[in-house]
Amino acid sequence: MIFFIADLHLSPRSPGATALFLHFLAHRARKASALYILGDLFEAWIGDDDDDPYHASLIAALRAAADSGLAIAVMPGNRDFLLGAAFAAAAGVQLIADPTVLTADGWQFVLAHGDALCLDDQAYMTFRAQSRSPAWAAAMLAKPLPERRRLAARMRMESIASQHGQPCADLQAAATDDFLRAHGYVTFIHGHTHQPARHDHIVDGIHVERWVLADWREERGECLVWDGAALKREAILPAS
Ligand code: MN
Repeated sequence: MIFFIADLHLSPRSPGATALFLHFLAHRARKASALYILGDLFEAWIGDDDDDPYHASLIAALRAAADSGLAIAVMPGNRDFLLGAAFAAAAGVQLIADPTVLTADGWQFVLAHGDALCLDDQAYMTFRAQSRSPAWAAAMLAKPLPERRRLAARMRMESIASQHGQPCADLQAAATDDFLRAHGYVTFIHGHTHQPARHDHIVDGIHVERWVLADWREERGECLVWDGAALKREAILPAS
């Protein structure tokens, strides 16, 4: 079995979602052969050198699951795109590119966070292009940690106040068809929009499924399960 999750947006302000994820990692996830985390595992990531104890506890939990035999792949999202090699080594996970084509258990998928296809939000796309450049990342990571913490808090407040940086309602249709064509019409799995759904696309006469992962809330998470024959959604609920 392969599990797919996204948009947990974990932070010290989401103790419920954090508890759900820790329980999931220690129990349900270990029934899978691989876990794909498709972006925004963390609400914010200011650099692998951050010594924040909350993040350290999550890295330890990922490492324990990886050491138990679970293969964990982490794709950076629009919130945690500064995740780097030191994080991956400490957590025992593999960082994967956005997008990534996955061939496994008799099927092919293309995996993405989803924000790269939110082309109608021009302000966000401009920010995305700037912030993904190696120069932007290097300049950010060169700042002292307290300054990066202040910047992250300010960016969060700005996104709450203006809605700028919030996920778009859905991917741009024409760009999505081009994306599906470019990746050989394989099943597309992504997150980011927080609008869980299964969309049916007809591209060049070919039926292509697009599955949108749910975001995690304080009382409920969700995992998409590939059992070798079909995809199905599974709720992650507080342990009773
Ligand atoms: Mn996102």
